[in-house]
Amino acid sequence: MELHAADSLDGALDVLARHGERCQVLAGGTDVMIQLGRGEIAASLLLHIERLAELRTVGSNGSTRIGALVTHRALATGALGTGYRAVAESAGTVGGLQTQAVGTLGGNVCNASPAADTLPALLVHDAEVTLRSATGGRSVPLERFVVGRRATDRSPDELLTAVTLAAPPPRSGDVYLKVGRRSAMEVAIVGLAMRLTFDGAGTITAARVAAASVAPRPVRSTAAEAALVGSRGGAEAVRAAADALLGDIDPVDDVRGSAAYRRRVIPGLVGRAVQICAQRAEG
Ligand SMILES: Cc1cc2nc3c(=O)[nH]c(=O)nc-3n(C[C@H](O)[C@H](O)[C@H](O)COP(=O)(O)OP(=O)(O)OC[C@H]3O[C@@H](n4cnc5c(N)ncnc54)[C@H](O)[C@@H]3O)c2cc1C
Repeated sequence: MELHAADSLDGALDVLARHGERCQVLAGGTDVMIQLGRGEIAASLLLHIERLAELRTVGSNGSTRIGALVTHRALATGALGTGYRAVAESAGTVGGLQTQAVGTLGGNVCNASPAADTLPALLVHDAEVTLRSATGGRSVPLERFVVGRRATDRSPDELLTAVTLAAPPPRSGDVYLKVGRRSAMEVAIVGLAMRLTFDGAGTITAARVAAASVAPRPVRSTAAEAALVGSRGGAEAVRAAADALLGDIDPVDDVRGSAAYRRRVIPGLVGRAVQICAQRAEG
């Protein structure tokens, strides 16, 4: 296997234009190196992009643009404003500190695991991904970019360069909650992200709900969102939202948890998430 370490974005895009079909992008390598070891990667060329400093920045101009190489550790420790706590919290649950120090947001998105922690948190912030190739660029809503288990809409000649989050509305609160068998180095049994927006009287005017590890790809539940909007987040609305979310998911039994257990924890998670969002929106 060949290794090419790109030292400019144009250089990386040129390699992808010429060799995209046989090329595997390598960012932090925390997924790629394991998949290589297991023989799951057939590429004959690794394109290492770690040196592309322009992909390591976070910029805010109403919306917030996170470079693909920004690490989970950076996101968890203050790279984002206070309006994106779900994203910071999700990044802070990826593996342990070592994994977070090298693992990148772009890698988590492009690996497109059903259990990827950052994906639900990005979905509740209406994330869009930006892709560049030697011939141009495009932006796609994250919801359309991840098309299935470990499958994305990325073409072989494209590099994901950034993820952009919408500006958080005033009077809103967000959260990411993860159920695992232990509190670190654990892939999610269920991951739930929520963002709620309230009016001055405490009524929910907008809601976003998304979950990981409950379907082949992270799921955004517009039915759960609709059940919360117009309510004050009371028990009845929480029950309706949980039922709606349960109707939108398709969990499986695996080594970490059964489908039945995954369904069982959802109502409690939805209730806790609503409470935390309300507190944070007040704060
Ligand atoms: C011990 C351990 C624990 C883990 N725990 C968790 C966990 O709790 N939650 C979780 O979600 N994940 C977990 N992971 C998985 C992994 O750490 C994350 O998915 C991480 O974000 C991957 O980022 P990376 O930079 O290492 O990606 P890489 O391994 O470098 O790449 C991942 C994939 O994305 C592609 N890619 C990367 N960057 C780009 C780009 N800019 N453009 C196009 N394609 C790109 C690669 O080709 C590859 O297919 C764990 C991994 C390990 C080793």
